[in-house]
Amino acid sequence: MPLTEQEKLERKRSRLIEKAREYQLGTYARKFVASVYQQMIRAESAAMPYGDALAVVNGELAWITREVGQCVCVTCGKVLPWKNSNATHGKLDTGHFIPSRRMSVLFAEKNAHPQCSHCNQQLGGNQGCYELWMRHVYGQETIARLRRRKNQTVQCTREELVDMRIEYQGRLNRAIEKMGADHAC
Ligand SMILES: [Zn+2]
Repeated sequence: MPLTEQEKLERKRSRLIEKAREYQLGTYARKFVASVYQQMIRAESAAMPYGDALAVVNGELAWITREVGQCVCVTCGKVLPWKNSNATHGKLDTGHFIPSRRMSVLFAEKNAHPQCSHCNQQLGGNQGCYELWMRHVYGQETIARLRRRKNQTVQCTREELVDMRIEYQGRLNRAIEKMGADHAC
């Protein structure tokens, strides 16, 4: 008898958990969960309908027009394709406002956004501009909450990490589908 969808998902999950046993939890989180999470952040941003996105340009808030499939660097306003960006036109990263790699903030909601590699890497996250953007978009409370989380210890089990990976992969796939559909019309 063929497997039901549910059974297929369960099997896939078991296989991923089995594979995850080969790694330390922290290594697995950074290597396999964070990479999907970061792609998901860019894809979901790029899947937004055509329109203006808020960014900080030369230290001031500005609205930047972008198309479906493109992201705007939150701290300089550069417009880049969510995928296949290259060295000539700049590369798109996912920049964390609180740059710690601790699990408490690595996957924290509202802590990661599209950022060009220049701002993210060369400018060390372009902190002053990032904070201005965060304050305007989410407010001081969210900034304070994220800063508190930085010092908290969050332990995830292997199963939780695998479930996060599956969830993020699902959201990534849906965002890619959405972009495809929007491009088609
Ligand atoms: Zn930038």
